[in-house]
Amino acid sequence: MDFRLTEEEISLREQIASFARREVPEDWEAGFEYEEYCPEHWPVTRQMARKLAAQGWLGMGWSEAYGGTNRSVMSQLIFYEEAVYHRIPAYDMGIGGVSNVGALLALYGTEEQKKERLVRLAKGTEFWCIGYSEPDAGSDLRSLSSQAIASDNGFVINGSKIWTSAAQAADWCWLLARVGADTAKNRGLTIFLVNMKSIGITVSPINDICGFPSFNQVYFDNVFVEKANVLGEVGKGWDYMPVLLFLERTFQAGASIARARRLLDDTVNYLRNYSLPACRNRELIRHRLAGLKVEIEVGRLAAYRAAWFKQRGLMPESVASTARVYSSRIEQGTARTIMGVLGLFGQLKGESPHSRLRGAAEHLYLCSLSDSILGGTTQIQKNIIALRGLGLPR
Ligand SMILES: Cc1cc2nc3c(=O)[nH]c(=O)nc-3n(C[C@H](O)[C@H](O)[C@H](O)COP(=O)(O)OP(=O)(O)OC[C@H]3O[C@@H](n4cnc5c(N)ncnc54)[C@H](O)[C@@H]3O)c2cc1C
Repeated sequence: MDFRLTEEEISLREQIASFARREVPEDWEAGFEYEEYCPEHWPVTRQMARKLAAQGWLGMGWSEAYGGTNRSVMSQLIFYEEAVYHRIPAYDMGIGGVSNVGALLALYGTEEQKKERLVRLAKGTEFWCIGYSEPDAGSDLRSLSSQAIASDNGFVINGSKIWTSAAQAADWCWLLARVGADTAKNRGLTIFLVNMKSIGITVSPINDICGFPSFNQVYFDNVFVEKANVLGEVGKGWDYMPVLLFLERTFQAGASIARARRLLDDTVNYLRNYSLPACRNRELIRHRLAGLKVEIEVGRLAAYRAAWFKQRGLMPESVASTARVYSSRIEQGTARTIMGVLGLFGQLKGESPHSRLRGAAEHLYLCSLSDSILGGTTQIQKNIIALRGLGLPR
């Protein structure tokens, strides 16, 4: 395995950093990407999408024919990591818009879907949310109960999705629902592209742990979706999930490590110019921060390793799950350690005049708790590693 970055990848990293210095407002507050879509941050997020599109960074995963720039998975991961590190909003056009929806449309979408949806994603004009989880189906997603009934030239959908991040701002929902009355696990599961302006959709906000209405419960009441807006084959939605989940876990791992890296770098910069009181054990603090540096580097390589496999057309599930389990642990551990290093000041919110790093440690401490839940909990990833990675019996 060769993790050396190409000249092009190194240059991409530098371009993103310089873009962030130029374009991200000084007082930009949304420290966690799910918050970019809350009402107070939405105008900046929407504007930034156009700027990212102008750089050609939103369509890296598909060809020029659909507005893309056709770059490597590694380049996409670098973009994802650096955008998170520099807190550039809109880099994924909603939740999973570019990294999941775009990637899957490029692989399995119809010509019409690619011309319509992919082109608008690359232009930064359409945002997406992901409708998988339901009140009674999370880890066991295949037991979901949202129903799609065939009607005229399409389907009528009824049901409800929960924890749907960014649904309040999204133009489209990537929805998993069941076609037909057969409730047996993955039978009938189908992916629909649902316009969020459709009649019958109600979006009800839910506050996250930091108090932001970043996710929602979304109700579908007799929502009509044209047949042309089905991804691939009806009833075969589950067959597309392995690619989706591999990409989601790889990119999420990169994102978690980038958030940890940013907090560590900010803390180190702060401590370089701040003299700790004599009562603090400086050697212990130095060692703790150095330990974080080691873990972050390892976590980064775990994400690169998954991208390296994908680049060669391989998707060993346990590789992406390993990166995911490790990255969420490192992100949470980094926030916890740095809260300890900053002492009681670290626990203050950014608005307090006594806060340190504008409340970044407290913010990551709270937000990162969800990192071992979203996109598949740590226990589910460990099940995958145990069964498919280690080959243990059920
Ligand atoms: C910040 C955030 C954003 C999210 N955004 C979205 C989104 O945009 N779209 C979307 O569809 N969903 C989203 N989710 C939902 C997320 O995918 C689910 O929360 C997750 O899959 C877990 O499902 P659940 O909450 O129903 O928990 P459950 O599945 O009920 O799990 C409860 C507990 O049981 C454990 N458990 C369950 N099954 C097993 C098993 N077989 N073996 C061992 N342990 C098990 C779990 O690990 C967990 O600890 C988001 C969640 C969060 C926290």
